[in-house]
Amino acid sequence: MLPFLEENKDLLKYSSFHTPATARHFFELRDKSDIEKLPDISRFAQAHDLPIVFLGSGTNVVFAFETFEGVIVRNMLKWVEYIQNTVRVAGGELVSPLSLQVSERQESSLFGKWIGLPGTVGGAVAGNAGCFGFEAKDAALEVSIFDIGTGQYISLRNSELDFSYRHSLLKENPDWFLVDAIFRTDLVSDDTTDPRTFRSGKQPGGFTCGSFFRNPPGDSAGRLIDQVGLKGHRIGGVKISELHANFFVNDEKGTHKDILALRDLAKQKVREMFGVELQEEARIIENR
Ligand SMILES: Cc1cc2nc3c(=O)[nH]c(=O)nc-3n(C[C@H](O)[C@H](O)[C@H](O)COP(=O)(O)OP(=O)(O)OC[C@H]3O[C@@H](n4cnc5c(N)ncnc54)[C@H](O)[C@@H]3O)c2cc1C
Repeated sequence: MLPFLEENKDLLKYSSFHTPATARHFFELRDKSDIEKLPDISRFAQAHDLPIVFLGSGTNVVFAFETFEGVIVRNMLKWVEYIQNTVRVAGGELVSPLSLQVSERQESSLFGKWIGLPGTVGGAVAGNAGCFGFEAKDAALEVSIFDIGTGQYISLRNSELDFSYRHSLLKENPDWFLVDAIFRTDLVSDDTTDPRTFRSGKQPGGFTCGSFFRNPPGDSAGRLIDQVGLKGHRIGGVKISELHANFFVNDEKGTHKDILALRDLAKQKVREMFGVELQEEARIIENR
């Protein structure tokens, strides 16, 4: 056993769904030197045939287990360094305060569109998060990755990250831990909509992971779920929001089983009525 791993860690507060879950093994990076411990964790996991999952703020995941038989590695690394028209920022930094900071330095900053976007820089780059016409791919110049399998650092430029809708190459490489990213800060937007006002009027609060499904090409998952009559539908402690049908809200101490049952129902109804196969945007983390 590795002395720095925590055992049987309660994960309730580590996903924005707040469902009950524990991790058999858990590690939180708080200091840059903690990165050096990742190869040991990788060897430990390999020796015991255990999966490793990186976690930021857990705002785009479902813990689909009671106990995760593996290692959850949560990233709390934080640093921000401005260099001319760029910012180098640690993967564990929260996107929304960063966005506010950048927009205070640069008038009408496109980066300001991320104010109110939950989660960390690591999660945003991994999933090419975006809103109001601004995605990670628009501003990310370069990222630094630590490959926990080889113990080597890799530097990748934007064009090498295979960014597309809610996707980047990080999603295909489970050994790649995003250490930090360099973004340009000089992009401007002529759209004056305040993202905070928009979100508070159109999206529900509470325990949710944001959009549960990806939007199918040319359509919106929320519209389809609304059309099949599931707005407000509840299973156990989780319901489909009346405000936005692509938001599942855990408002009555629900479990991952409630979330997955709602997911299955929404998929089935949309498939039957529209012949469309909805794909999860949230990452469903399961035991092997
Ligand atoms: C209310 C609400 C509104 C939302 N609105 C939006 C929106 O408008 N647009 C949008 O795109 N998303 C939205 N989301 C989803 C979420 O905010 C984003 O997906 C966010 O970028 C996830 O960041 P995170 O740190 O929480 O990642 P997590 O949920 O912790 O992880 C997500 C994925 O990223 C990977 N990951 C995280 N950190 C690292 C790392 N350091 N290295 C490698 N991989 C890593 C994880 O393994 C996982 O696969 C919303 C969520 C909520 C709760």
